[in-house]
Amino acid sequence: HKVSVDPITILTKLKHECATPAPLLQQVADAMCAQMRAGLAADGGSGLPMIPTYVHDLPTGNEKGLFYALDLGGTNFRVLRVQLGGKDERVIATEFEQVSIPQNLMFGTSEELFDFIALRLAKFAAKEDGRFHFSAGRKREIGFTFSFPVKQTSIDSGILIKWTKGFAVSGTTGKDVVACLNEAMKRQGLNMRVSALVNDTVGTLAGAEYYDNDVMVAVILGTGTNACYVEQINAIPKLQGYASSSGKMIISTEWGAFSNGLPLTEFDREMDAASINPGEQIFEKTISGMYLGEIVRRVLQKMVEMGGLFGKSVSQKLSIPFILGTPDICAMQQDNSGDLQAIGSLLYDKAGIESNLSERKTVLEVCDTIVKRGGNLAGAGVVGILQKMEENSEGLIFGNRIVVAIDGGLYENYPQYRAYLQDSVKELLGTEKSNSVVIDHTKDGSGIGAALLAASNSMYK
Ligand code: ADP
Repeated sequence: HKVSVDPITILTKLKHECATPAPLLQQVADAMCAQMRAGLAADGGSGLPMIPTYVHDLPTGNEKGLFYALDLGGTNFRVLRVQLGGKDERVIATEFEQVSIPQNLMFGTSEELFDFIALRLAKFAAKEDGRFHFSAGRKREIGFTFSFPVKQTSIDSGILIKWTKGFAVSGTTGKDVVACLNEAMKRQGLNMRVSALVNDTVGTLAGAEYYDNDVMVAVILGTGTNACYVEQINAIPKLQGYASSSGKMIISTEWGAFSNGLPLTEFDREMDAASINPGEQIFEKTISGMYLGEIVRRVLQKMVEMGGLFGKSVSQKLSIPFILGTPDICAMQQDNSGDLQAIGSLLYDKAGIESNLSERKTVLEVCDTIVKRGGNLAGAGVVGILQKMEENSEGLIFGNRIVVAIDGGLYENYPQYRAYLQDSVKELLGTEKSNSVVIDHTKDGSGIGAALLAASNSMYK
């Protein structure tokens, strides 16, 4: 290797470019707020998608009876049933099953995919035990969590805009996915009804709010990212004339598409250019789990090529995209040993790299730089949402207790990321305001949330 730029110089430049001082974070929060406003004003403009969900009412706690949820958002789908007992008894019993979607169905026809789902749902529904009580003469109702881009026009219908996440099913795009499921259930002789169609953020918000009425924002930080929140109907010009009894609606921000004023580097630009959706989902590519490890890999790769990092220990493996996952950089950051032995082993196991202590320290600093930027920016996004909510409620947000429920494998498993997110929220809001904002981790609430929304939108209410 010919050393032309030493690793420390690359690291210094990286830290400089990734820095997230308070003024920058405040600009990001302000821009998020402005983009939300623009997205609420009109579709297809410069703002965020800000998708109306037609969910007006969050669970009250009074929901009673047996409800189902079906969650399709990736290569697995989950079916769940819950027996709700109202204010005092709450969730009496719950049971779920996870089924992986056979590869061929991801490339088959719409009928084949929905028939498979309806069949597995029918099998699951046939096995209700004594803890679950169903009122005879009724249809079993389902909350359907469908985490693909959908254009909704009511709580129980939505047109698929496009498949994502590796699905290439023919014949669904442009159709109502609830109708697709209903038809498949009919073909399977299954007498159930979809009462609510939601995405996973909305399910998470409903599930968390059931246990804590102050939850008004939900954020997913997993492989990808999204956030939703409770908006005032009169602050949604693009729904002019639409009436809701509560005067509110949950809006799915689709904030992964945000891109204003982010501190980006050559590594981000190159990763974006090589991605399946160049120029899109820039916020997601800066803060979510799918990408943090890959950004670190790209920095290390440059340090190897330009700066002779890892000296004689050349590794071809490090040039393989996504060979370092976010769980790997997370594991490295948990290494508290003096000689950073765990980092050494991980680099060796993953990429065949032999490293010395000072090199491991550099690796650790690269991880921390990328994760700090990600967590801080996610926090600024949260503050942007809170600012937007405050605009329409004249002091009702700050000053009252408000809970932001966060779910997803990244937030759940990465302590440093979590801390950086919370740091930036505190820093931007200041002590007084941030005292009333609770950032709460919530786990797997989305399934129960969907079932609760099926209950609150029940045809038997
Ligand atoms: P998904 O978002 O795919 O529906 P999850 O919410 O479980 O599912 O998130 C999975 C993502 O969480 C992974 O892609 C990874 O980026 C991140 N993740 C999982 N485990 C860890 C970990 N131990 N440390 C850091 N990140 C993790």
